[in-house]
Amino acid sequence: MQQPEPQSFDRVLSSMCTEPHPAAREAAERFLATNPGDPATYEAVASLEERAVELLATLADHPTPTDAAGYVTSGGTEANVQAVRSARNRHDAGDVNVVVPESGHFSFHKAAELLDVELRTVPVDDDFRARTDAVEAAVDDATALVVGVAGSTEYGRVDPIPELARIAHEAGARMHVDAAWGGFVLPFADAEWSFGDAAVDTLTIDPHKFGQAAVPAGGLLARDDAALDALAVDTPYLETRSQATLTGTRSGAGVAGAVAAMEALWPDGYLDAVERATANAEWLAAALGDRGYDVVDPELPLVAAALPESEFDALREAGWKVSRTGRGELRVVCMPHVTREALRAFVADLDRIRE
Ligand code: PLP
Repeated sequence: MQQPEPQSFDRVLSSMCTEPHPAAREAAERFLATNPGDPATYEAVASLEERAVELLATLADHPTPTDAAGYVTSGGTEANVQAVRSARNRHDAGDVNVVVPESGHFSFHKAAELLDVELRTVPVDDDFRARTDAVEAAVDDATALVVGVAGSTEYGRVDPIPELARIAHEAGARMHVDAAWGGFVLPFADAEWSFGDAAVDTLTIDPHKFGQAAVPAGGLLARDDAALDALAVDTPYLETRSQATLTGTRSGAGVAGAVAAMEALWPDGYLDAVERATANAEWLAAALGDRGYDVVDPELPLVAAALPESEFDALREAGWKVSRTGRGELRVVCMPHVTREALRAFVADLDRIRE
């Protein structure tokens, strides 16, 4: 059978993944047959993973990047599940709860179900950020984890992380930041989100999103080893004694690609990408605003605007890969592969549809 062509990125406006950097592509292919889940056998990729954690910790302003705990996950979902699991395992109460703003990614629902913890979802304010009064009201002695989002999936918003961390710790809970998408943008933005800005315990930051690594490469970071120790199980048939990851065999391609992308792009290449994406998001928001649509002011390079369903459907019909927020707004993620030319063609198609 003839193989289908993979999806071209030309008209992809909804994805949080992007075209991998050429160095990431090459490194991923070289390490395709390696397994960082067995570090005593696959030593080269195991040391690359240490480098990946150090680089991620540098981006997330960890106080001592060379000592940061963490690993390269299969994606943001695994990192979030593991953060919930670690906090649950470290908490004294038998039945624990996790407090998540309603803007939190659906991976927290998976985590709660898998781990049998209660998920307390709290409302966001008019600007789609976690309401600290609601979080304060939701926490109690059985709260194991408070989650803040740094770059929300629908609107690209950053929750008030330092305040959420204070609330978490006063309640005896741990603080997790989900910067799966935002983590490669926020080092260049004026926001408080990182280990350096707040008493964050664990943090999700995915190279396979804005980091331009090859899929699968997510990232879980922790302030100290205890967070990962709480995840470790014995591994009798391996030469290493324990394993803290969720999956056993893992992608060496993901690890090698992540390191290659970060070494090629941090910091100047990422800064360029963020500046281009931000200018594109502002351009698109203005173009949609000029046409009379209600636009959610983009803070990070993600634009949401209220479009009639018929126009949304016609754009999909024209081949544009766009998606909608839970409230039904059009959502365009200005990833590194999204060019101004593509956005101009998109707006031209919209004008044609509106005629
Ligand atoms: N967290 C956030 C904020 C996300 O936007 C996403 C996905 O878009 C995830 C977690 C889940 O990441 P993944 O799809 O890599 O599992």
